Amino acid sequence: MVKQTVSTDVVIIGAGIAGLWLHNRLNSMGFHSLLLENDTIGNAQTLSSQGIIHGGAKYALNGILSKATQAIGDMPARWQACLKGQGDVDLSGVRVLADYQLMWSKDQLSSKMLSFFASKALASRMQPVAKSERPTLFQHTGFKGALYQLDEPVLDVTTVLQCLAKPYQNRIVSYPKDWKTTWQRDAKNIQSILLGDDLEIKAQHFVLTAGEGTESLLHSLDITKPSMQRRPLQMALCKAKDASQPLPAIYAHSLGSGSKPIATITSHFDQDNNTVWYIGGNLAENGVGKPLSQLSKEAEALLAEIMPWFKLPELEWAAHAVNRAEPKQSSLTRPDTAFVESKGNVHIAWPTKLALAPDLADRVIKQLTKQNLQLHSHNEDINLTTASIGDTLWNRAFQ
Ligand SMILES: Cc1cc2nc3c(=O)[nH]c(=O)nc-3n(C[C@H](O)[C@H](O)[C@H](O)COP(=O)(O)OP(=O)(O)OC[C@H]3O[C@@H](n4cnc5c(N)ncnc54)[C@H](O)[C@@H]3O)c2cc1C
Repeated sequence: MVKQTVSTDVVIIGAGIAGLWLHNRLNSMGFHSLLLENDTIGNAQTLSSQGIIHGGAKYALNGILSKATQAIGDMPARWQACLKGQGDVDLSGVRVLADYQLMWSKDQLSSKMLSFFASKALASRMQPVAKSERPTLFQHTGFKGALYQLDEPVLDVTTVLQCLAKPYQNRIVSYPKDWKTTWQRDAKNIQSILLGDDLEIKAQHFVLTAGEGTESLLHSLDITKPSMQRRPLQMALCKAKDASQPLPAIYAHSLGSGSKPIATITSHFDQDNNTVWYIGGNLAENGVGKPLSQLSKEAEALLAEIMPWFKLPELEWAAHAVNRAEPKQSSLTRPDTAFVESKGNVHIAWPTKLALAPDLADRVIKQLTKQNLQLHSHNEDINLTTASIGDTLWNRAFQ
């Protein structure tokens, strides 16, 4: 016997960036959605992300503006409107860590790369930085390479989650991980989701935005396609041992001769306001499974290689292993756009990038509208526990 039965228009499962953005959009359009979370809000990939609102330039280093670059190209403008409080969702309370990112090469760029950066497609998104305007780290006489400014902001993800969670927080439901998920269905569609023996939620539509957790949800629904792939990473984090002499805050990609940046460094702040460098790129791709001692040794060598003019202070290191969860591709490559596929009234969605959350919400809403989502009234007087936001990595990684 189920203890409580409630109803909503749309059930969304998983409160990372994808679920939260969609939850906001649907409720502000007048629909009623309940967002279900079995851990803390954003705890998985979203709070592991570097907070970069990519516009695709990073993916164009091979000189080709691929489909991925085109799809993601208008995301920074979408987010910028939200940051001003004029977009689909209100992100005016978000802490912007950097208005733009840097791309640097320790040597001069090849003429091929130079002309590509100056081409019509990229020139509006990235400009060379004049010597007088360089941040302190790149003003050193030892730096003899190229420095570009990329029109893509970097955001403090915790404040993004706070802004998205706040307006409809009473509709973000927390439930324990060990509660079994079962489904009630008729011949065509899912009618309701049952969480343990405690709660039944009836809805017209069910959207899966559970990141890595979507795999077992698909299994519980007997859906075999689409299936999920994991792309693991082990990110390195470091901060100065002496917090009174912190690392400089930088948001930058280091370029080599390949089609991907060698490293991407973002800067974040721990509880003592000490600067934490969060390092992604090849180091993280190749660092999977390595012990911290080896990862930190490789990371120190890499930093010495890409910024030879900068004397690193004594550092404290941490590692963070995390999987990216995405629709399965024929090879373990990065999917091009936000992914949404519908199986009846179940919609399976992976954004594939934090930046693509607005695109994901557009695509899901298009599907729901196509399937004639109706606006019904629902009882708000329900006894449900609301979910809270996960702790930041900058505090928990070093514990
Ligand atoms: C190290 C790293 C750095 C990245 N940096 C960037 C970046 O700078 N810019 C960018 O654009 N992208 C970046 N990304 C990609 C981006 O973080 C992800 O694409 C995005 O956060 C995925 O969001 P999501 O909401 O789909 O999943 P998640 O953030 O993983 O959220 C899924 C949520 O579902 C919950 N859940 C799981 N199972 C269940 C269940 N059964 N019931 C209820 N809830 C459930 C989880 O607890 C979690 O809260 C990065 C990814 C990684 C790993």
